[in-house]
Amino acid sequence: MHGASRKSAREDMGMLRRRAGKNVGKLRNCPICGRLYADLGRGLCPGCYSQQESIKEEAIRYTDEHPEATMEEISKATGVHSLMLRKMELEGKFGNASKRLEYACSRCGRPITAGKLCQACMESFHRDVDKVQRKYDKEHPKEAAVRKKKEMEEYNRLARKAQANMEVRLEQEEKMERAQERAKQEQADELLRKAMEARKALLARRKIRRMFYLQSKEREE
Ligand SMILES: [Zn+2]
Ligand SMILES: [Zn+2]
Repeated sequence: MHGASRKSAREDMGMLRRRAGKNVGKLRNCPICGRLYADLGRGLCPGCYSQQESIKEEAIRYTDEHPEATMEEISKATGVHSLMLRKMELEGKFGNASKRLEYACSRCGRPITAGKLCQACMESFHRDVDKVQRKYDKEHPKEAAVRKKKEMEEYNRLARKAQANMEVRLEQEEKMERAQERAKQEQADELLRKAMEARKALLARRKIRRMFYLQSKEREE
């Protein structure tokens, strides 16, 4: 009976989508009640979402009383789902208590705040991959040689590109320096020219004054 109603809901949704002519949301089972619904990014069915909205203040009250509480503890104590808590965290409802953003590394369970694996598990994962690769290479030496040649070519290509970039940058820097020096020189030339003009003008004024002086002297005599 349950299965039948779920199937018909899926069919209804398909019909709705076709009628709307566009994506009305991904069909999902609500993580709280299991009902099928069209998810528009909230991660919960409309019923559970509004119920969660109505109790989310309790999570804030709880963190006021238990400032060190983790997401898991808040969820357990208040019944507010982790999806709603994460949304509230992103909205800054809990201040900057970053400890609450922690979740378990999917390999060892250590608390992390980004990705799926902690640093140690990530490193051991890469080591495992390398080990498998080396084993594979030993068993397929021809293939390994081709791969290594390709890797070397790629490395050389990147190295050449970096070298070319560096040369271009150095050339640009040199050009800029030369331009700056030229500008400085032009400034100095301009100052000198002005100084010489000023001197010339001064000399001319002196000459004129002297001329007037001599003329007036002549008249007196
Ligand atoms: Zn629900
Ligand atoms: Zn780990």
